[in-house]
Amino acid sequence: MTSYFSDHSRQDRASDLALLLGHTMQCETCREKLLAQPERVMLGRKMTGAQREALNRLTPEDFENAQTLAVALDMSLSELSEGINHPRARLRHL
Ligand SMILES: [Zn+2]
Repeated sequence: MTSYFSDHSRQDRASDLALLLGHTMQCETCREKLLAQPERVMLGRKMTGAQREALNRLTPEDFENAQTLAVALDMSLSELSEGINHPRARLRHL
């Protein structure tokens, strides 16, 4: 009836991409999975074609820090930080 509690609700501003990256920055297992099988990890997630291409091009070096990762995905550091600091990014494995 209502989509108020959707991904776009005010309580959950972090994007799918930011959450994915936030988790992979903190979880080495999932980071390796993302680097090895990006297509599989992206399955069913809401992101643009440009974001998918950027994820396909990721290298371990891009995970050096939040700044380099934000640059690699062409997103703002504040958007990425929302994913990194989001409680769901810490708990949910890919
Ligand atoms: Zn994980």
